[in-house]
Amino acid sequence: MDRVNSEGIKRESLGWVLTRRDLVLRARRTGSCLLCCQGPVHEAGLCEVCTVMLTETEMKLVERWMAGVGP
Ligand SMILES: [Zn+2]
Repeated sequence: MDRVNSEGIKRESLGWVLTRRDLVLRARRTGSCLLCCQGPVHEAGLCEVCTVMLTETEMKLVERWMAGVGP
């Protein structure tokens, strides 16, 4: 059972998780946000609500996913 991410990751772990292709792809596959577990999610595995709270550094990582570049 793959339940590591069942309750969402810690906010401070997001920068690291966004560099983990397997975790982002799993969030996309399950359609649940990495942070809050709600959907729908975009290419970086986050929902719109969480995306607006990102720091500049995190947003750069998200933009790479959105552009299809990946981690
Ligand atoms: Zn969210």
